[in-house]
Amino acid sequence: MASLYKRKIEELKGIGEKKAALFRKKGIDTIGELIRYYPRNYEDWSNPVLITEAEQGENVCIKAVISAPFSVNYTKGKGSLLAKTVAYDSSGGVTLIYFNNKYISQMLKTGEEYFFYGKIERTLNGCQMIAPTFSNVASGESMHPIYPLTAGLNNRTLSTAVRYALDLLPEQINDTLPQYIRDKHNLQGLKFSLEKIHFPKNSDELFFARRRLVFEELLILMLGLRFLKSTKVQENGIILNKNYKQDFLSCLPFDFTSAQSRVVDECIFDMMNKKSPMNRLVQGDVGSGKTAVAAAVSHTVIKNGHQVAFMVPTEILAQQHFSSLKKLFENTNITVELLTGSMTAKGKSEIRKRLVNGEIDLIIGTHALLTEDTEFKNLALAITDEQHRFGVTQRATLLSKGNHPHLLVMSATPIPRTLGLIIYGDLDISVIDELPPGRKVTDTLLIDGTIRQRALGFIREHIDNGRQCYIVCPLVEDSENTPDGLLSAEEYAARLMEQEDFRDIPIGVLHGKMKAAEKEKVMTAFKNNELKVLVSTTVIEVGVDVPNANIIMIENAERFGLSQLHQLRGRVGRGLEKSYCILVSDSRSPETVKRLETMKKTSNGFEIADADLKLRGPGDFFGEKQHGLPELKIADLSIMEDLQEVQNCAEEILSNSPTLEGDDYKGIRAEIKRLFLKVGSDGMN
Ligand code: ADP
Ligand code: MG
Repeated sequence: MASLYKRKIEELKGIGEKKAALFRKKGIDTIGELIRYYPRNYEDWSNPVLITEAEQGENVCIKAVISAPFSVNYTKGKGSLLAKTVAYDSSGGVTLIYFNNKYISQMLKTGEEYFFYGKIERTLNGCQMIAPTFSNVASGESMHPIYPLTAGLNNRTLSTAVRYALDLLPEQINDTLPQYIRDKHNLQGLKFSLEKIHFPKNSDELFFARRRLVFEELLILMLGLRFLKSTKVQENGIILNKNYKQDFLSCLPFDFTSAQSRVVDECIFDMMNKKSPMNRLVQGDVGSGKTAVAAAVSHTVIKNGHQVAFMVPTEILAQQHFSSLKKLFENTNITVELLTGSMTAKGKSEIRKRLVNGEIDLIIGTHALLTEDTEFKNLALAITDEQHRFGVTQRATLLSKGNHPHLLVMSATPIPRTLGLIIYGDLDISVIDELPPGRKVTDTLLIDGTIRQRALGFIREHIDNGRQCYIVCPLVEDSENTPDGLLSAEEYAARLMEQEDFRDIPIGVLHGKMKAAEKEKVMTAFKNNELKVLVSTTVIEVGVDVPNANIIMIENAERFGLSQLHQLRGRVGRGLEKSYCILVSDSRSPETVKRLETMKKTSNGFEIADADLKLRGPGDFFGEKQHGLPELKIADLSIMEDLQEVQNCAEEILSNSPTLEGDDYKGIRAEIKRLFLKVGSDGMN
């Protein structure tokens, strides 16, 4: 198998330069990569229907015999080719039509029986199928792979290429997983699994092939991350001399919760006592006060004479952290500055100059911090907020700006525990498991559009009492093709302003397409209580903190994931006022209602993430490509239980052989290298 990763795809029959370029578009350069390019789905051809009973316009599978050779016609002018024949089963016949396929009459032979898969159309001239996919009944395969495609590359070309590639696998291949692991976890061999993931004869074979490949992929990922963690340990960290936590407490307008206090201690302990740099994830539900923890940790680092970089995913958040931290440190000699992409070139270069001269102690910024010309005098701590929005490589780039600086990553845990262990396997973890005192649980209501007007009345009352409110609309990407009733944030705001009840109320709009400066203006006005209602897309999802806002109304709530709804709900309930989250949805689907009801039942981020995982499957978590991890090829087809079992297996392997030495683990070592080398080169996108 290993050698197939060295053989170019062009070696396969029927693949020339042009096709190879298309394959490359899908990340397939070698024969080995093609074999690892798994179908995204399968058509089940095990229960063919009778031609006369086939549902019109639905995809169906029929089993029929070709009754006559194809008749081939050229349509005039266009030079296109039209091939027709008729196939029969016991109930009747269907005309098969193919366009521009020179070889079709060689592929489908008169008198032989095939499965055909496609839509049946009944016309005045009888019943027909246009370009159905097919396979010979004699082949015995009833599941057919459907591959992710790209323009110019069709499913047949792909599956044919995969067949040729599989033929190149030697009789005996070295299995990535040693025999003892396969036996213990009841896993099929690699060769069987690779063949059957593409061409299973039935769903049993598919199940076992998939199980084995999912297991392998997750195992390699877990072991690889463990490896990253253990290689980091050897570096020399910057050891701090003194703990300034007590001094910092006098800057704070409130007392730390005991959870915040403990987490600050854990971080400072790392930086004062460990030989290797701190490498820590702080997990805390929305509103648990992570920013203040970051501030305390930064304070001690700065007081020890070093610089701190604080990276956040959006301009709005950068702006917000900048103003709150500047205020927090206003009576100290700590210099806080902001660096974001939307600043003028002159402004940015000014800041960068002061950074490298050491005139700035704490820099808050967006991705702008990652550019090559951003240099520090003595960066000792890199912080990333809302870590799930960044990749591992971005984290690494920020770290490269210092000499083995400490790392603190913060996340509101939209990721379930089990997945968190995989995704953050290379980090130590601190948890802020407590909310600041006085917080009341946000009341969550689920309503449909018929009650919207009443909800708006409710909002109006709260505004009259001095409060503010968010209204969130789903992202509308293409205004011409929007489903009925879905309004963009702008349209929504415009309609709201026309309403009798809201005419005299200052309403702001915020969406991703606005210029950074405009966004900032709107956000500041909302923060300063000049705007009472903020109609927005999910740009406010991460981190935005306006304690006076106590209602969030989310339109078309069914379009959001639970974790995302939880993040949105976390925008309110930050003050002492009772707060409300109103989910508006007209969806009647029982699953959707059940999903949204979860939001009413719990306000615990972990529980919600777990529920989300059960409902959506882990695919969506990995699929978001937000973690900077290698893209998983198959685990998104996985079933939950696998995770724990794989985890146990990884632990066991590491306790047998912490460095994966020995012949047993040769295959695993090679796969780790393959998977993680790729991240290094393209993980930045
Ligand atoms: P998150 O963990 O979601 O990032 P923030 O850091 O934005 O939370 O904090 C949420 C709000 O709680 C802010 O307004 C902050 O000032 C306030 N806060 C943080 N810690 C405390 C505390 N110990 N006591 C009271 N209020 C706090
Ligand atoms: Mg935050």
